[in-house]
Amino acid sequence: MADCLFCGIAAGEIPATIVSANPRTVAFRDINPQAPVHVLVIPRAHHPNLAELAAVDGALLSDLVAHARDVALAEGITDSGYRIVFNTGPEAGQTVGHVHAHVLGGRPMSWPPG
Ligand code: AMP
Ligand code: ZN
Repeated sequence: MADCLFCGIAAGEIPATIVSANPRTVAFRDINPQAPVHVLVIPRAHHPNLAELAAVDGALLSDLVAHARDVALAEGITDSGYRIVFNTGPEAGQTVGHVHAHVLGGRPMSWPPG
């Protein structure tokens, strides 16, 4: 989709620190990390948010979560624990309208989130 930041990163047109990539999904480091490990995982295809992706392509959503799991393994946070967050909509703090999983770990985290 034109003018989408994360479509641009997926296409290699906008620079990012890529962690790993495969034909359907891409993982890259968040530019403003909130934890020692903070990686974003996106589908290459444009979908606005988690709910809309789930409604139209459950297989791609499964690929996305599997990639997030692989990121956690590669970053060494599987045993210590990690959080996968999909902010959806303005009050949740979604600022980029291309679905992305935040993979956060490497420090203790409080619950509920602020
Ligand atoms: P959200 O607020 O859930 O929409 O998350 C968007 C995330 O994208 C934020 O954590 C930003 O720090 C991150 N972000 C914005 N621009 C970039 C970029 N060019 N490269 C990497 N991460 C970015
Ligand atoms: Zn997009």
